Amino acid sequence: MRHSNDPITLSLFDLLKAGPGPSSSHTIGPMAAGADFARRAAALAPEIQAAAGGLRVRLLGSLSATGKGHGTGPAVVGGLTGCPPDACAPSLLRRAADPHAASLFLTLPKGRNIPLGPRNIEYGPIRHKHPFNNTLIIELLDASYPPQRDGPDSPVCGAEREGRRPPPPPDGPVQSSVDAAAAGGNVLFSVEYYSTGGGFIRWKGMKREKQRKPPHPYADMKEFKARCAESGLGLDELLMENETALTGKSPADIVAELDNMLGIMRDTVLRGCAAAGTLPGSIGLRRKAAVLHERARSLAPFDRALCLFNAYAYAAAEENAAGGLIVTAPTCGASGVVPAVLLFMEEQLGLDLKARRRGLAAAALIGFIAKHNAGIAGAEVGCQGEIGVASAMAAAMLAHARGFSVQVVENAAEIALEHHLGLTCDPVGGYVQIPCIERNAVGAITAYNAALIACNENPVSHKVSYDEVLRAMAEIGRDMNAKYKETAGGGLAVCLVEC
Ligand code: SF4
Repeated sequence: MRHSNDPITLSLFDLLKAGPGPSSSHTIGPMAAGADFARRAAALAPEIQAAAGGLRVRLLGSLSATGKGHGTGPAVVGGLTGCPPDACAPSLLRRAADPHAASLFLTLPKGRNIPLGPRNIEYGPIRHKHPFNNTLIIELLDASYPPQRDGPDSPVCGAEREGRRPPPPPDGPVQSSVDAAAAGGNVLFSVEYYSTGGGFIRWKGMKREKQRKPPHPYADMKEFKARCAESGLGLDELLMENETALTGKSPADIVAELDNMLGIMRDTVLRGCAAAGTLPGSIGLRRKAAVLHERARSLAPFDRALCLFNAYAYAAAEENAAGGLIVTAPTCGASGVVPAVLLFMEEQLGLDLKARRRGLAAAALIGFIAKHNAGIAGAEVGCQGEIGVASAMAAAMLAHARGFSVQVVENAAEIALEHHLGLTCDPVGGYVQIPCIERNAVGAITAYNAALIACNENPVSHKVSYDEVLRAMAEIGRDMNAKYKETAGGGLAVCLVEC
């Protein structure tokens, strides 16, 4: 599933994104699509805005199959109010899910504001002809599409409160038409979006952005190691030079952003360790992190260490399941693994901020290469691409933070991923809870063990490369039946319900 032979041009903060859980492809991506549509709609010609009277969102593929459990509808609606994922308050998504809430609107400066709510969402076919499984089509409709209701402006979201200006509408073709839609309403303007995992979105007709070139180009681990050897730079130094060239940001700004991500991940774990009660959804799953955290205190040292790992990973994963603010690493569903290892590095291993920051850069490198050469979305390659890659990222992070060589970092990531190969995505009831929460804990402990093995073996005697294990993951992902790719149509999702 290698997407291109071109060099990787992702920013650290394309991969490490803050946003609401529980699923990067089902909440953060769709919310980003909604916010993107809101920007485009506000810039439409006045006559189109004046004719608008309704809005429809059609969810297809896995977004339709498990969108209700993942909160995809409220996420798109939240985005359509103009709020980007990293500024989303949980209260916005609660209101977006409430059919009786009457205060959310798509703002059209040259027309009427369009009321938003669950009624704007249609759950379409799971199998479809569009090029990516997670497809959503957002349509601005004329006044013949019910319901019509005038209202006040959309509420101010976090970004606007903080004085941040929403980005301008992106370039790229969109569709503006007067086709009569089967379910009523003439389509004035529509965009077909793809949520490609990790909170990334693309849209039909999207042009390749003119990318700045990285000074140290690489498309896989082998090339990355070659660039390190040629330049004499360390792993995080090379990534920093690429990041400054790709984003135009100063090293100080990049460090500040990395520290912000570290802080959000730490807060997510601490919030989760202090929370109690039942997670949203029909499963009625009770939170466990606080109990595990409390019990860990009374255990013998070895058990205590493992139990703390579990508590930290549960905490972040439960926060994700509850729709709290998390950082994709590489996705929402797997967002407990890296924070659990990070807090363990800080509290139990005494690794300082500088070491943790360096480690986070190594984690991002491993995520970049996985995304570029195989995939990180459960809907694309199954859970091996989510928890498996998260575990590889965390193993690499620990090895690099402890000062080991790039070869050891690679070996740690490879070991962690190798033992997640073939892992299916089969969330029970479509909720990112069973098996996801427990799986984060298992992935975090596997990461620690993988780093332990890699840091204590002879690095050059290691037989399997990270590029090779990614090739295997891509091939397995290609062969994996669609029912094991985030559709809740097979595996545990079916057996648990039937048994
Ligand atoms: S099973 Fe894995 S890939 Fe699927 S939703 Fe859960 S964490 Fe994500």
